[in-house]
Amino acid sequence: MRYGIAVDTAKCMACYCCFTVCKDEHCGFAGKYSAAQPMMGQFWINIVERERGDSSRRTKVETIPLLCSHCEDPACLKASRDGAVYKREDGIVIIDPEKSKGQSAIVEACPTGAVFWNEELEIPQKCTMCAELLDDPEYLAYLGDPKLKRPRCVEACPNRALIFGDLDDPDSDINKFIAAGKVTPLSGLEGQKTNVVHLNIPTVFLAGTVYRPVAEEEVAIGAKVKLTSAETEEVWETETNYFGDWEVEGLPKNKPIDIEITFDGFETVNLSAVTDTDHYVAQTYLEAK
Ligand code: SF4
Ligand code: SF4
Repeated sequence: MRYGIAVDTAKCMACYCCFTVCKDEHCGFAGKYSAAQPMMGQFWINIVERERGDSSRRTKVETIPLLCSHCEDPACLKASRDGAVYKREDGIVIIDPEKSKGQSAIVEACPTGAVFWNEELEIPQKCTMCAELLDDPEYLAYLGDPKLKRPRCVEACPNRALIFGDLDDPDSDINKFIAAGKVTPLSGLEGQKTNVVHLNIPTVFLAGTVYRPVAEEEVAIGAKVKLTSAETEEVWETETNYFGDWEVEGLPKNKPIDIEITFDGFETVNLSAVTDTDHYVAQTYLEAK
């Protein structure tokens, strides 16, 4: 049994339900696995929002729920002394609220900033994956079926952006969920095995708009747009929408990309761009053949 949470960033709509129930569960409650979470200044699950795009023509916001990744080989554990950080048999990484007193090195060691310092108690604190709740026989009796047990954030997510389960069970929902997405490690955890797995973190997008010839004053709906990376030999294909807009998300970073736009009855247009950052590439006007 290895408990995990899969986080599909593409499904997160920044409603903060997970954040709110985390506060409800842990503020004012001290237990075996943590002291009470302070109401202010700690975000055991946080929704990081970042504006993307390089012009007023195409901007969007990415939202990434961030929490402790419950690493297999945790940097926080290595930085701790006297057993202050340990892993349960089910893989949940715990900071002991008593043994960790004074150990601020645990905060600094985490590469994703998932640990917070409690000034008043002088202890580091973070997500416990609601271990206390998962172990609680009353909670299990209330659920009636052990398969229904899950941390509060997972239970609260209205968009199924968070899925909990047993990573050791190949048939578990969490493993099916992970298999259907694109696993993207958090910055600082590349190459690490973690029990919280992030999916579909955006990389770079390219976008544009295609118009019919100027005199027609109309956008081109359904124009075919093909992006090619000569370096990685990948190809992405899309079509312009009702507004003549196209967009391709999830491109590899810092690669030259060739763009080909075709539309029946019009000359092919070739453009190029580099995925150093998100770009609105161009407004393209077609010419009749
Ligand atoms: S994400 Fe940070 S706090 Fe969580 S287990 Fe890994 S190193 Fe420790
Ligand atoms: S509850 Fe789900 S959708 Fe809402 S912010 Fe959290 S992860 Fe995103």
